[in-house]
Amino acid sequence: MESREWGVGNGGKKSFSPFPTPHSLLSTPVSVMNYDVIIIGAGPAGSTASTLLARAGLRALLLEKSRFPREKLCGEFITPECLNVFDRLGAHERMFDAGAKTINQWMLFAPNGRGVRVPMEWIADGHSHAIGISRARMDLILLDCAREAGVDVRESFHVSPRLRRENGVGIIEGRTDGAVIERFSAPIVIDASGRNGVFSNPINRAGGAAQQPSQFKGSRLFGCKVHLRAIEGMRGLGELFFFRDGYGGMSDVENGRTNLCFITTEATLREAKGDREKLLDLTMRSNPAARRRLRNAVIDGEWLGTGPVTYGRRRPIPGVISIGDAGAFIDPFTGSGILLALSSGELVANVICRSFVEGVSDVDAIAKRYDQLHRARFGWRFLACALLRAVAFNSTARNAMVSALTRYQPLMKLIALSTRQRITPYSASLPQSR
Ligand SMILES: Cc1cc2nc3c(=O)[nH]c(=O)nc-3n(C[C@H](O)[C@H](O)[C@H](O)COP(=O)(O)OP(=O)(O)OC[C@H]3O[C@@H](n4cnc5c(N)ncnc54)[C@H](O)[C@@H]3O)c2cc1C
Repeated sequence: MESREWGVGNGGKKSFSPFPTPHSLLSTPVSVMNYDVIIIGAGPAGSTASTLLARAGLRALLLEKSRFPREKLCGEFITPECLNVFDRLGAHERMFDAGAKTINQWMLFAPNGRGVRVPMEWIADGHSHAIGISRARMDLILLDCAREAGVDVRESFHVSPRLRRENGVGIIEGRTDGAVIERFSAPIVIDASGRNGVFSNPINRAGGAAQQPSQFKGSRLFGCKVHLRAIEGMRGLGELFFFRDGYGGMSDVENGRTNLCFITTEATLREAKGDREKLLDLTMRSNPAARRRLRNAVIDGEWLGTGPVTYGRRRPIPGVISIGDAGAFIDPFTGSGILLALSSGELVANVICRSFVEGVSDVDAIAKRYDQLHRARFGWRFLACALLRAVAFNSTARNAMVSALTRYQPLMKLIALSTRQRITPYSASLPQSR
């Protein structure tokens, strides 16, 4: 393979780069392809970051191990705040063209089936509704935005967890199914590869290594998802049901389907012994309100499972900026994961461009700036969600809270608002030429 200097990705635009020609820095084989920035993972974080960086004139490579469209385990409840980012990316209309459903109301149900409505305006940030759309569709639309912005996209490319740095340039490698190893280099490497980030490890609250599985004794959490048909009365609703040791959500997505997604413990999964009907009885159908909804439900799609799910910040290896879930994973029941992924994509693009303009091109210095801003902007949200999770998984505290919430609307508003804050849009731009 020949050594190439890439500019094609920018659709012929004159590109700005604060770096000397990258391959002149390398003492690696000529087969390495050079970019200004490499992004690993084409979820909402990676696609957003790469779109904005390419629009700013950087030569961006986006590496994704799957081939899109691909299903993804997720509640597929896209909060109103996300629509602002879709507007900025030019993706909003496309979501509706692809059949996204409008969700105007959000309901929470205690394990005894008692429900409480959360007005969507409380979490609106401009748009008065949330949307439901499958991750297969949504992620494909965001990836298309990246392609159109001039990002070089490689699907079915699995990045290996090995990073070499030479003279300030990161060299990563991976392979397409069954194919030979390929290498790519860039001064900036962004890990957007999700919860099990290829270059990022979970850290516990004390800042040390993550706990060992033996410490959990069946309490580890796992997620399941399936698409259903023939759910009655869902129109315009997003619903969250709590049960003995977990919670699950339902909301409509495109093509007349409803997404069902829940989180439960390893102990419950063991008890179900692989029998999905029994698993539904032990989890969602143990909540009377969910049982009513699921009465005539027909499964329409594959069951997906994931876990164990660990929350909180991840520690990237030196030379890498971790964004989205790879940087920090927030409890899904407040529906903030996709918003944080999109926002972290915008934030990292802004920080990189601003750093370049200020003459800072060291990736670790940029990672530090990004991390500080991310903590300042989203730290409170992580804390609030961690506290709510502690309550949600303690039956006494949870029942007391749900009963208080059904009586005191101001308390519920306070709690809903504690998991949100206004998101300032971040722009990403560079001088037009060097
Ligand atoms: C049970 C559950 C329910 C949820 N429900 C909701 C919800 O309703 N609403 C909400 O807002 N959030 C929800 N979330 C959270 C949301 O799914 C995530 O926060 C969001 O997907 C994060 O986006 P991301 O781009 O950081 O990572 P991801 O979406 O995980 O994307 C990472 C990408 O990296 C790719 N990748 C991984 N490894 C490699 C590799 N080695 N090489 C190349 N590519 C790689 C993956 O294939 C993937 O496409 C839920 C999460 C869970 C677990």
